[in-house]
Amino acid sequence: MTHDATLAAAGLTKAELTGGTLAVYSPIDGAEVAQLHETPADEMAVIIARAQSAFRQWRNVPAPRRGELVRLLGEELRNAKAELGALVTLDAGKITSEGLGEVQEMIDICDFAVGLSRQLYGLTIASERPGHRMAETWHPMGPVGIISAFNFPVAVWSWNAALALVCGNPIIWKPSEKSPLTAMAAHKCLERALERFGDAPEGLSQLVIGGPELGAALVDSRDVPIVSATGSTRMGSLVGPKVMARFGRPILELGGNNAMIVAPSADLDMAVRAIVFSAVGTAGQRCTSLRRLIVHNSIREGLVEKLKAAYATLPVGDPRTDGTLVGPLVDNGARARMLEQLDRARADGGTVHGGASVSDGVPQGGAYVTPALVDMPAQTDCVREETFAPILYVMGYDTLEEAIEMQNDVPQGLSSCIFTLNLREAETFLSASGSDCGIANVNIGPSGAEIGGAFGGEKETGGGRESGSDAWKGYMRRQTCTVNYSAELPLAQGVRFDI
Ligand code: NAD
Repeated sequence: MTHDATLAAAGLTKAELTGGTLAVYSPIDGAEVAQLHETPADEMAVIIARAQSAFRQWRNVPAPRRGELVRLLGEELRNAKAELGALVTLDAGKITSEGLGEVQEMIDICDFAVGLSRQLYGLTIASERPGHRMAETWHPMGPVGIISAFNFPVAVWSWNAALALVCGNPIIWKPSEKSPLTAMAAHKCLERALERFGDAPEGLSQLVIGGPELGAALVDSRDVPIVSATGSTRMGSLVGPKVMARFGRPILELGGNNAMIVAPSADLDMAVRAIVFSAVGTAGQRCTSLRRLIVHNSIREGLVEKLKAAYATLPVGDPRTDGTLVGPLVDNGARARMLEQLDRARADGGTVHGGASVSDGVPQGGAYVTPALVDMPAQTDCVREETFAPILYVMGYDTLEEAIEMQNDVPQGLSSCIFTLNLREAETFLSASGSDCGIANVNIGPSGAEIGGAFGGEKETGGGRESGSDAWKGYMRRQTCTVNYSAELPLAQGVRFDI
């Protein structure tokens, strides 16, 4: 299918895609596919005011009724799954199956949020005073600014949007300027759902198109109490303090540097499959991509040989073609950074297998590479950084304690895993003295999380949690309520204040 046909099938019109100032390129072949009309920065104040006014109505709509809107959104996304999936591929360069998977993730979180809309439970709390009742109630917070990254052009929005909407909050979404097309099409699904819903307030969901300056307007506004920002640690280090300085609530989902420990008892065939999917899937451009392999020295050489053999057969190419497993990097800049990083690894004593530019048998104009496997003598500085590309560093260990220390000895703390059939090792890895990451898996790779769990990580990953479990609490304010139904006025802690 041509790019134009993919765009049209997803419901984007010529008028929307032409005549603007934001040039959008497809990673598939570097072709310019749109010139979008950017939201003027000086319109942000009006947009935020509209969201505030929507909030005053939406917060009073019963949560299960708010859930109905999200149910309709899920229906619209289901109906448009194939077209949106193809657009993710065009926009972000993901292979077809991963493009569809990203849309499925949106559908899944809608289902989750619909159920949640009847389960925004608070607590009842035992009061120490007679004739008193204590309870904890959850209330909507206000407009949520959603700033999203290029590599998950829509899924991350849906985690935030579905929860924010059932929690009673309007949303303002600023997608990445590198992959805004799927955002436009997904937002149209929400607009259709809003139309079917009927009586939602105007401005409940707004999409703004442009660069960091629009994100900055959300970050700086006191009328946007929650800013959920997904992207690089550099971006989070700018956004987080600004939101905090005005006592807003940041939800930060930043870079990862995820590791797998492979223990002597591991099922190596399973481990190889998990390693290859999580290290080279999405061409290493997932926040949860596997970047560090910490292998017991007794099995290191054999595992590296198996991986070299698996890497040698990986089909690199057009992400739309059946059978392709490694699509393009987002742009030439990303490829240049990968190659630079491999030079640093060589200078640190690493032996690099793969990691070359590919120009034969791939669409011209795209940034294609063979994934790199790098045998490292130690966890040097370049290994401790997140390079958003398919580079997998391999290091050896002798004791589990040493492996866990190495796994934790990076600034990031998103996802982690161990392959072992030894119960003691698995439980140690999951214990308080084990992995320090937000996600810790056993006999599963670090990437490809389900929506049912809370998603996010520690340290430079930002500490935010989104998606499942009780991540919804991040979108609401907690109120502790004490009701005195007695005829006395006893004070807590036995304090006496007689007048
Ligand atoms: P990026 O930081 O370049 O951009 C992300 C978003 O932030 C974009 O929408 C951008 O316009 C906006 N932005 C940039 N500077 C800003 C500022 N000063 N104020 C407000 N907004 C600003 O990231 P990217 O290259 O698009 O994405 C890749 C990065 O995202 C990787 O580090 C990856 O690990 C991370 N990521 C993390 C998660 C997660 O859930 N932890 C998920 C996806 C991606």
